[in-house]
Amino acid sequence: MRDSQHLNTKLIGLIGHPIKQTYSPFIHNVAIELTKIDYLYLPFSVPSSSLKNAVRGLLALGLKGFNVTLPHKVKVIEYLSQLSEEASLIGAVNTIVNEDGKLIGYNTDAFGVTESLAPHKSKFANKEVAVIGAGGSANAVVFSLIRNFKPKKIHLINRTEQRAETLVQYFKTKMKFDGFVVHELIQPDLISTLNKCKLIINTTPIGMFPETDDAIITSPDAFTREHIVFDLVYNPIQTKFLNLAKSKGAEVIDGTRMLVLQASKSFELWTGLQMPIDEVYHSLQHFINE
Ligand code: NAP
Repeated sequence: MRDSQHLNTKLIGLIGHPIKQTYSPFIHNVAIELTKIDYLYLPFSVPSSSLKNAVRGLLALGLKGFNVTLPHKVKVIEYLSQLSEEASLIGAVNTIVNEDGKLIGYNTDAFGVTESLAPHKSKFANKEVAVIGAGGSANAVVFSLIRNFKPKKIHLINRTEQRAETLVQYFKTKMKFDGFVVHELIQPDLISTLNKCKLIINTTPIGMFPETDDAIITSPDAFTREHIVFDLVYNPIQTKFLNLAKSKGAEVIDGTRMLVLQASKSFELWTGLQMPIDEVYHSLQHFINE
């Protein structure tokens, strides 16, 4: 139970810049309420120039741990004592645990991706899949696909081809995966490429509020009823990209599921407790739709 002066309250939080769009404080504080523990999750807006001081400060203040979001997920690694295997292979950290003054970095985005996709595994495992985008979240997606779903090929589609090539070289070296095909986003044969994939994942921010009329793929012909289509964008819950896919009979997975799942892993790392995932998920959906 909480005391009114917070003398025993354990602090957790988030550093990023900007952090106005985040739902993490909502998710974690709802989970804290539901599990009745004396924790508090706070967002801290930290520009890149203050990252080192902020990490030192959070350590000095004795936070149990914190999330890390854009633009710090890679840079923060140099201030940590140790990395989990996933964080090390992905090359980015989104969760830090303070273990008696030692900061350990984890990447729970990969867990969020894996658990979001797991119920649909039989439909796309060992088949060709498409990943659109080659930024930080694409790294977690590609790691999860290679590690858990053994794709025959990963078609990596990105606006900037060079960035996709960099990601490909990284995973060829780190995970010995050789099944990448890189495509520039504007390529005219993209529809036939997408048609032969069983899974299509959008890892770009296109379609995110307030630009809800945008979609990274605008032709409904890209989608068929054979597809699983996953959008990492979580606001709105049903993006235009997912609505186009649904109009062709595809099965869709929205980004809020991953958001709660990755948070549940962080919550467990900090508190040792399971997050009540379904209750938190429904609260979040209600909050976003308000
Ligand atoms: P990032 O590292 O900045 O990467 C963004 C990617 O999107 C890059 O590949 C970029 O292409 C592409 N892109 C950006 N603007 C574009 C445009 N106008 N047209 C075409 N491509 C464009 O971002 P990130 O960390 O990967 O995050 C991406 C999205 O995933 C965000 O919306 C984030 O909120 C979401 N996300 C969701 C979850 C979840 O739990 N649901 C978790 C993590 C992230 P270039 O290489 O050409 O710049």
